[in-house]
Amino acid sequence: MSNSDYLNKQFATRALHVGNEPDKETGAISPPIFQTSTYVQKSPGDHLGYEYSRTHNPTRTRLEQCLASLENARHCIVSATGMSAAHLIMQIIPKGQAVICGDDVYGGTYRLFTTVLQNEFNFIFIDTTKTDETIKLIQKNKPAILWIESPTNPLLKISDIKKLSKCAKDNGVITVVDNTFMSPYFQNPLDLGADISYHSMSKYINGHSDVVAGAIMTNDDRICKDIAYFHNSIGPSQSPFDSWLVLRGVKTLAIRMQKHEENAMIIAEYLESHPQVESVTYPGLRSHPQHEIANEQMSGFGGMITFFIRGGIEASRKFLEAVKIFLLAESLGGVESLVEHPAIMTHASIPKVEREKIGLTDNLIRLSVGIEEVEDLISDLNRAFDAAK
Ligand SMILES: *Cc1c(COP(=O)(O)O)cnc(C)c1O
Repeated sequence: MSNSDYLNKQFATRALHVGNEPDKETGAISPPIFQTSTYVQKSPGDHLGYEYSRTHNPTRTRLEQCLASLENARHCIVSATGMSAAHLIMQIIPKGQAVICGDDVYGGTYRLFTTVLQNEFNFIFIDTTKTDETIKLIQKNKPAILWIESPTNPLLKISDIKKLSKCAKDNGVITVVDNTFMSPYFQNPLDLGADISYHSMSKYINGHSDVVAGAIMTNDDRICKDIAYFHNSIGPSQSPFDSWLVLRGVKTLAIRMQKHEENAMIIAEYLESHPQVESVTYPGLRSHPQHEIANEQMSGFGGMITFFIRGGIEASRKFLEAVKIFLLAESLGGVESLVEHPAIMTHASIPKVEREKIGLTDNLIRLSVGIEEVEDLISDLNRAFDAAK
């Protein structure tokens, strides 16, 4: 079967086969890594579609084909990191325009917008879970971009992608959804009306904590053309080897996401009933403030859990020093379970007053639940809670 034969198959089949056809020359089942910068031409301008690897590379093309199919998109452009992909997206709108952005976005996105691009655009931050207020703000400011992260990092706030994209579309606004936390397996923003789905593939899509990478998916030919132009001009191109690693990692996305979610649900319920826990945030819990919207727009609840431990910063520190299977590290979405402290680690670039304003307090702990045996994870957490007493 060729690529196009797989396009109408189920997600898990596409993840494995689209972009992964055996090599035509040798039959190799694992696609070659085209570790090349340039391509020989027959006569000037007469080439096989590839000229230079900053622009295009056959291994990268395979990955882009696979990712586009997983996000139900016509186009995908990958880049060297998630942040470089975010930066590319921001190039396609005229300078001086307003941009409306969620107030609880990834720390690096917040830093990019407030310290690198702050003089180029007028950034307006709002809690995009407040649908009516956000709609009013869109109508009033007519921004060039509406930037939604759903669920957010680390508070797992969920915005109504369908309603917000509809309003954005009516007002000529490009909607970008950072879909990193759900991966294309649990959420497809383009199907909900967004113009761009954006991923840090360093997380679930690659899933093995051994690559940093970003991806932009869209059905809009114009947006794709513009992003490709800036990608080629600025040059945050992903290496052929990293493209190959992600192409390998993404093969198991479906089965990994299922296990991440299964484990996370059990752990979220365990935490909710634990006396040393003040509260738990997980989209799959009924207690989650946007559980209903989560149910509507996502086909699962993912592997990220945020909880507030009793005993403040001291208890947090003891807990984080005591875990053994949960590794204390930034990042998320890999097969191994990770734990981190946003206020000290990933979100330190947000000033303390701003952090506390949005509920990012010093007793907040974030778990990226991996695919280990869940009993082992729970006994690890038990030990850490004992140490934090
Ligand atoms: C990690 C992350 C990013 C940034 O991606 P990098 O690959 O680290 O550059 C953006 N958004 C979210 C939600 C993330 O978790």
